[in-house]
Amino acid sequence: MKVAVIKETGPDERRVALVPEAVAKLRAAGVEVLVETGAGDGAWQSDEAFTDAGAGIVTRDELIAAADVILTVGRPDDATIAALRQGQTVLGMLAPLSDPGLANRLAEAGVTAVSLDMIPRTLPRAQPMDALSSQANIAGYKAALVAADAFGRFFPLLITAAGTARPAKVLILGTGVAGLQAIGTARRLGAVVSAYDVRPETKTEVQSLGATFIELTSVGQASGEGGYARALTEDERQAQQDELAGHIARHDVVITTAQVPGRRPPLLVTSDALKGMSAGSVIVDMGASALGGNVAGSEPGETIVTENGVTVIGAANLPSKMAAAASAMYARNVSSLLQYLLKDGSLAVDLEDDLQRGVVITYEGRVVHPALAEPAGGTDHVDGAAH
Ligand code: NAD
Repeated sequence: MKVAVIKETGPDERRVALVPEAVAKLRAAGVEVLVETGAGDGAWQSDEAFTDAGAGIVTRDELIAAADVILTVGRPDDATIAALRQGQTVLGMLAPLSDPGLANRLAEAGVTAVSLDMIPRTLPRAQPMDALSSQANIAGYKAALVAADAFGRFFPLLITAAGTARPAKVLILGTGVAGLQAIGTARRLGAVVSAYDVRPETKTEVQSLGATFIELTSVGQASGEGGYARALTEDERQAQQDELAGHIARHDVVITTAQVPGRRPPLLVTSDALKGMSAGSVIVDMGASALGGNVAGSEPGETIVTENGVTVIGAANLPSKMAAAASAMYARNVSSLLQYLLKDGSLAVDLEDDLQRGVVITYEGRVVHPALAEPAGGTDHVDGAAH
């Protein structure tokens, strides 16, 4: 079987789906590996390093002609998708919920699509394949560094002959995988950290990282299915925004990470809350998206300074800014899933298997994933968020 790694074409995408270490492991499992010329450049993995690990270096056309399985980080571009043929498999974070037409096109072309971002994360055996967690960990770490970099003061307490700097007060909103890593990183930089989540079960995790858990009096718990949060009602949302505004005003740095599966990110920092912050404060919005983020006015990939001097950074693809680490972790997720799907040297799809039912999107000319057959409803449902 030939698996092939394409050079990513997404905007600002520096990651690569396999690194040489993973290539060597797949070779040992009897898999032939092809890598598109320059695929690893953005992650500081040279063609030579891939060759040394046992991969063949090929052009995009050669790769598409020869590959049984094409490995990607993000969704391949339209030209690549159009060039795929019957019997080929594409495996990557395809975000199929954001574009139901993609699954239909792949099914019509007879391509098997496997989407890592759809992995059933609660299955213990899926943990080595959980690319959402591996990339969220990296994003949370980087968010704290981006915030520290943009902040015109120190994160730690510093006592010097030229004066004493008080530690920065950092607030993390949303304490899932990314939020917890942001807490740990901000703490290691010496900041005083507080955090809030609608899922009260995160309180002990927050406290174990040395941060203070903020409890709102106006909003109860909002734990939903599968360890995720549920969407708040309009009244809850309003009460949450109002009460959070007071906490936000008392912090120098805010990092927002809140997501609700299948919906646009909840607005946590309103324009009034922004007005309440002091000049020089910094917000990193990890929920920033084209449809709106956790912070009023934030735009993905843009940095805005408000009239009262608050820097609002719309985070876009933070894992790509840590391309070497992100690719190494992603490669482990990809090779775990590949090896799970391998039987006697070729891919053996088995839709009776609960893990495979979660990740296989198209198979034998049909869209087989239940979430694509029956999209979730809701007024602010976004055919978009991949979870
Ligand atoms: P996520 O990216 O979907 O959301 C990030 C956080 O935002 C969550 O903690 C969520 O509760 C919070 N949030 C949503 N709406 C909010 C609001 N209005 N106000 C404040 N906070 C809000 O979450 P994630 O990081 O992908 O992980 C979510 C859960 O999945 C966690 O419990 C995690 O432990 C769990 N998980 C479990 C496994 C496993 O069982 N193996 C693997 C990975 C993740």
